[in-house]
Amino acid sequence: MPSLFSDLWTDACRAAAGLIFVEACALCAQSTAGSAGSAVPGLCHSCLQSLPRLGEPRCRVCGEWFMGNIPGPFQCANCTGRKFAFEFATAPFKARRGMRDMVHRFKYQRELWLGETLGRLLATALHGPTADERLAASDQWLLVPVPLHPRRLREREFNQALELASVTSRHTGCTVADVLRRTRYTSGQAAMTRHQRLHNLRGAFRLRRPRPWRPTAESMVVGRRLLIVDDVFTTGATAQECARILLKYGGARQVAVLTLTRG
Ligand SMILES: [Zn+2]
Ligand SMILES: [Zn+2]
Repeated sequence: MPSLFSDLWTDACRAAAGLIFVEACALCAQSTAGSAGSAVPGLCHSCLQSLPRLGEPRCRVCGEWFMGNIPGPFQCANCTGRKFAFEFATAPFKARRGMRDMVHRFKYQRELWLGETLGRLLATALHGPTADERLAASDQWLLVPVPLHPRRLREREFNQALELASVTSRHTGCTVADVLRRTRYTSGQAAMTRHQRLHNLRGAFRLRRPRPWRPTAESMVVGRRLLIVDDVFTTGATAQECARILLKYGGARQVAVLTLTRG
């Protein structure tokens, strides 16, 4: 799609978002006009309540949810004995039902207006009654979106992680630091094991190159608490490699991971 038309299309979608928000719920298509209790635009109160929230018990490292009754904080068998570059990963929702549907429509069907809805849902992990207490303890997090490779960015025309981080930033006051770049085009990750993904992603990320018109990536992240932002956490291989770069080359003080959903 030519870039001018693409920009106009993107603007039109965003402008239309305001209209859609007051008209129809993203999941049931019913009018949201009377949904005064719904705190998230684009969702009626009933659909918002029915989203698959990720509650306890969950692994305090990788955020995976488990059935049953496990008292107190615990580490799952997958994480035990394993050293991650990030301190912990958390997600407010499971990658199921309505959440998976909305993320798919946003990423692959160009329903860009859903970015506002999904970003507001992501922000609930930082603020309010459903916040993860490890995140809510500080408003000093810098939000670092997982970057797309330039080729993928041309194909998709937007980076879903950056869109989510931008909306979350507006609603939490946390600043976005878009400091990573992806240097290797990787595909077919879905069929790989965690070990294969880690191997495949090794060296796939770098800090952004210095430019005269913006602060260097290093100066933005050194000594800071960083929150890697993405739409979904599955094996954690992407987050692991991003965190490694931010700590090793950026000098970050702490790196954690916030995704909208946990696969
Ligand atoms: Zn609804
Ligand atoms: Zn775990």
